[in-house]
Amino acid sequence: MRIGTAELAAILAHGRRGYPFEVCGVLLGQPVREGADAVVERVVEVVNRETESPRVRYQIAPEDLIRIQREARDQDREIIGFYHSHPDHPARPSETDRRIAAEGLSDGVLHMVIGVDQGERATPSAWVFRDSTQGFDEEPLRTL
Ligand SMILES: [Zn+2]
Repeated sequence: MRIGTAELAAILAHGRRGYPFEVCGVLLGQPVREGADAVVERVVEVVNRETESPRVRYQIAPEDLIRIQREARDQDREIIGFYHSHPDHPARPSETDRRIAAEGLSDGVLHMVIGVDQGERATPSAWVFRDSTQGFDEEPLRTL
């Protein structure tokens, strides 16, 4: 996948700002097309609605998602994925992330996981969910 430098910087800054809690958001842009990578053109921050364990969990409210879906359509963009942060945990999907994705995501949906070390160093990673394995494959992350 490809992402604009400013959009990537915004996600990393969001992760640092939200520390020590998980932050989350939605990736808008163009999905994979024949011979072309998915492109993240905009990122939308979403309030983490998880109330019990927001340091290790995140939740996107359905009404937030519906609103963003509408915004995306108005901009001729699609929701192509999601992101969330891992405060003091590695920049890769956890088993919980995999399980939740298996219930909710469909094949090819992107997911970025941002490791945030001590609230300072933020490390991006990108993944794509695959129905065939019910898991995430790491996805090369290129900036525009
Ligand atoms: Zn996670």
